[in-house]
Amino acid sequence: MSTTSDLRQLLRGAALRVTRPRMAVLGAVYAHPHADTDSIIRAVRRDLPEVSHQAVYDSLHTLTAAGLVRRLQPSGSVARYESRVRDNHHHVVCRACGVVADVDCAVGEAPCLTASDDRGFSIDEAEVIYWGLCPDCSTARSS
Ligand SMILES: [Zn+2]
Ligand SMILES: [Zn+2]
Repeated sequence: MSTTSDLRQLLRGAALRVTRPRMAVLGAVYAHPHADTDSIIRAVRRDLPEVSHQAVYDSLHTLTAAGLVRRLQPSGSVARYESRVRDNHHHVVCRACGVVADVDCAVGEAPCLTASDDRGFSIDEAEVIYWGLCPDCSTARSS
């Protein structure tokens, strides 16, 4: 799902104009899940050396608003972006090194979206972040 024609189709499907920065940013987010903005800029510049920071920020904002990209920001971390959208998956974050991994929603069809009391809200997202130590960091601590 990241060939040039796939990316173009995703943009068109979201009624977005196809621009080189948007194509490059979306491709970078697909290639580097949970990357932060600086890593995305570095990846985009491999294809588009002349792209400005602002163009990358703008593209990330547009892609996020259109639902093609999901933004996550664990507390104490910079914003990160991923292409895995709309499945309400969660994240586990390492307290020591900050690495982020995907965790599927607890069991079955996004049960976290079924709140025990929705307070009359129409809920479309449940943000759950698990915190702990990644395998590398827990090995380092115990040795
Ligand atoms: Zn770690
Ligand atoms: Zn994720």
